Amino acid sequence: MTITSEIYTASNGVVFKKKSAHYTDKLFKIRLKSGIFSIIDNSLNKRCARCHDYFPADSEFFYASAKKRDGLCDWCKACYQEWRYPNGRSEKN
Ligand SMILES: [Zn+2]
Repeated sequence: MTITSEIYTASNGVVFKKKSAHYTDKLFKIRLKSGIFSIIDNSLNKRCARCHDYFPADSEFFYASAKKRDGLCDWCKACYQEWRYPNGRSEKN
């Protein structure tokens, strides 16, 4: 996967960088319209399908997934941890 930065101008005039090159403009616009993607503070955010909170759309907050069209999992990392370790046990500890 190649990560490059691309400048994207949203319909509301906000200009920001796309972090992943493999979003097609079509997919991107569909996701913005459906609310899965949102532009918050000039950066691209993605909504977690489980907790419905927005987080920056990068691998810091979402696990990368080659299966997903936008390259990121639908759930945020916190939700995955909660689901995987319901008693609070984490991989790190
Ligand atoms: Zn979540």
